Amino acid sequence: MLTRRHHAKKNEEFLTPTYGTRFFTNDLEAFRMSEKGTNPQSAYQIIHDELDLDGNPSLNLASFVTTWMEPEAQKLISENLQKNLVDQSEYPQTGQIQHRVIHMLASLFHAPEDQDVTGTSTIGSSEAILLGLLAHKKKWQFNRKKKGLSTEFPNLVVGGDVHVVWEKFCRYFDVELRIVPLSRNRFILDVNEALSMVDENTIAVGAVLGTTFTGQMDPIEALNESLEKRYREKGYFVPIHVDGASGGFLLPFLEPEFVWDFRLSHVRSINVSGHKFGLVYPGVGWLLFRDRSDLPDDLVFRVNYLGAEEETYTLNFSSNAAFVIAQYYNLLRLGKQGYRQILNNCLDNARFFAGKLEKSSFFVPIDPNPSLPIVAFSLRSPHGGREMEISAELKKFGWIVPAYTLPPKAETISVLRVVVREQVSRNMLEHLLEHLDISSRILKNPSLQTHESPPVC
Ligand SMILES: *Cc1c(COP(=O)(O)O)cnc(C)c1O
Repeated sequence: MLTRRHHAKKNEEFLTPTYGTRFFTNDLEAFRMSEKGTNPQSAYQIIHDELDLDGNPSLNLASFVTTWMEPEAQKLISENLQKNLVDQSEYPQTGQIQHRVIHMLASLFHAPEDQDVTGTSTIGSSEAILLGLLAHKKKWQFNRKKKGLSTEFPNLVVGGDVHVVWEKFCRYFDVELRIVPLSRNRFILDVNEALSMVDENTIAVGAVLGTTFTGQMDPIEALNESLEKRYREKGYFVPIHVDGASGGFLLPFLEPEFVWDFRLSHVRSINVSGHKFGLVYPGVGWLLFRDRSDLPDDLVFRVNYLGAEEETYTLNFSSNAAFVIAQYYNLLRLGKQGYRQILNNCLDNARFFAGKLEKSSFFVPIDPNPSLPIVAFSLRSPHGGREMEISAELKKFGWIVPAYTLPPKAETISVLRVVVREQVSRNMLEHLLEHLDISSRILKNPSLQTHESPPVC
């Protein structure tokens, strides 16, 4: 039973407004744990308010990552946040759902129907790429050992346009990285140069579908042809791993006839980010193998301490099941038609934006008619090189548009990049164009200011 004093104290606490507590005037112990905690309302409000200093995800055009999902998807996510994906015996339906998504993706990517569908969910494309390449390294070692050949010097051939995770793989897993450099007018892989770097120690060749730098695509079909020819001539089979982080969810809907996936004989593994154009919040990615024989048994662990024997071949053990479930929600809810409609809108808007830039006097798109909803653009001469200033000016309006130099041999070119995500509407792009126009005025030197250049749009 509560005494009167207790009652009075309780009431007082209840009546103290959130911003009336001492926590709003104390210095926060931000780097060391304080002895005493704080009440939940204050902790929430302090953190919530501080996070207002972050950029606005909707205006973050730098990111490929999904910033909006339907309320029903959000509901499923919050209902399932407690589930650990690895506990498949405790959560058998979640496990089933993961398998269904893998099957759907395998079919979207044209994996042979008569083969064992093989794949896994990951935290994102990075984990999927590391795992996929590890599989190729293991398989190469296995094949070499079987023939009594050296396994000392594995190498990986990629274009200079690959994401940093490809370099990470080489450094973490001791593989020589052979980079086909870009050039001043080519920002994707050159097939002939790549072929000249391929030898019997090549564990795989990487190809990107939608590069991080310009959103362009490596010539995968031509690469496949050359590797087939190499196989016929020299007798060693070099697989292709396709980095479809963004393109993997785009091409099957935007251009189903375009051949880049398991329809090509050397494409043995593909990664795709669920949290990019898979339209799920971060983090979920997927790794698909053409068939079970592309995943060496060496990489598969069987554990029995979760209730039943399970197979695992992820780098991380525990991960959140909610985003895998959210992926399934999207696939079920949208169907092919839904994805097609949303992604076609993204592409239409990207082309609209690139077209406007093409007509402007200050900017020039790398590709005036992009194949994917990613628009990289530069300043027209003589302003080239000042893209960082434009990025800083746009920031004043709240936009996050990155500016960076392209990789080696193309590093004299700076670009700005806009990822036209689901949430980036025509209306938003119109505003962005207006703000680009205002931002570009910093480029005019005072002597030029007398005769105004025509506006961007
Ligand atoms: C985003 C991206 C990655 C990394 O993927 P995450 O899902 O962020 O781990 C790798 N490659 C390409 C081409 C990308 O666009």
